[in-house]
Amino acid sequence: MHPFTYTRVSDTREALNAGRGGGRYIAGGTTLVDLMRETVERPEALVDISGLPLDEITVTERGGLRIGALVTMSEAAAHRKVRTLFPVVSEALELSASAQLRNMATIGGNIMQRTRCTYFRDVTADCNKREPGSGCAALEGVNRTHAILGTSDACVATHPSDVAVAFTALEAQVRLLGPDGERQVPFADFLLRPGSTPNREQALRKGELITAVEIPAVPRPLKSGYLKVRDRQSYEFALTSAAVALHVRGGVIREARVAAGGVGTVPWKLPAVEQRLVGERPSDALWTAAAVKAAEGARPLQHNRFKVELLKRTVERQLRIVGGIK
Ligand SMILES: Cc1cc2nc3c(=O)[nH]c(=O)nc-3n(C[C@H](O)[C@H](O)[C@H](O)COP(=O)(O)OP(=O)(O)OC[C@H]3O[C@@H](n4cnc5c(N)ncnc54)[C@H](O)[C@@H]3O)c2cc1C
Ligand code: SF4
Repeated sequence: MHPFTYTRVSDTREALNAGRGGGRYIAGGTTLVDLMRETVERPEALVDISGLPLDEITVTERGGLRIGALVTMSEAAAHRKVRTLFPVVSEALELSASAQLRNMATIGGNIMQRTRCTYFRDVTADCNKREPGSGCAALEGVNRTHAILGTSDACVATHPSDVAVAFTALEAQVRLLGPDGERQVPFADFLLRPGSTPNREQALRKGELITAVEIPAVPRPLKSGYLKVRDRQSYEFALTSAAVALHVRGGVIREARVAAGGVGTVPWKLPAVEQRLVGERPSDALWTAAAVKAAEGARPLQHNRFKVELLKRTVERQLRIVGGIK
């Protein structure tokens, strides 16, 4: 562990001043502290934001949902409005980490969490994300859990968050507050693909604070849910996952929101699957035909070819669970 200073702030202005001066925000601390212990992260100044008033869940004027950045994962998962309006969010959260972690961990910290690539967390290994220009040990190493979509020659690590997959499917927005004021970034633009700069992971400007994630209103009724496939049934990250939301009216699918996790360098929206579904009547054959499109553009590595087929089956199964068979 490297030496660092610790400041607890009580309002956002104080936080932004500390952030602008190079301070690193800490919320629940469930992942940042681990990375500091392993010396993967070496912040010189920690700014504890856990006392800021960013812990509310509100229904927006337009009928969407705003989840404060400091709402804990367990509070969000249990919230009545989240459960009734967007069960896909509750399910993604409940299938994450452990109950103890979910009681500490926040929504803002969750979407900011860093990859679980073992080489990233081993400071003796080459890793462009941790040490730009050093290489990528996973390319020729053990890459069974790595990404098959959105990869580059510089990095093939997956984004580990489950709820970020639900937010991606639902086309959420990330609300940010920085020295220049407030702004809102679509979730799809917030997490960055690695390209040649895998060390740049989010579209955050220096000192910016996530204040909330906002899920836009969707046509009702909306059925939604999250399926996570992993090596063991609890306390494990996704090999593949699927977040599905469907609006069916008059026996026809009017809107479809689908994204996959465990397979992309960022949570992976599946527009080809969505387009295949819209305008069709739910049927077993439709789920199969749409799910085939989930792995379009996949570039598997030596040890993760199985993810191509697993992804298609995960999406197909979740379409069937959410959409039923008519
Ligand atoms: C054993 C284990 C298993 C896990 N399994 C899963 C899993 O299955 N699925 C899953 O999704 N997650 C999993 N996690 C990750 C867990 O969900 C995260 O650790 C947690 O969500 C991080 O939230 P936090 O508030 O503790 O973040 P912190 O550790 O406090 O911070 C994490 C990062 O976010 C930044 N940050 C925090 N809040 C803000 C903000 N408001 N604005 C700007 N930056 C901010 C910090 O600077 C830091 O870089 C697991 C973690 C562990 C340790
Ligand atoms: S996949 Fe990315 S995080 Fe993992 S070793 Fe390669 S560069 Fe580092």
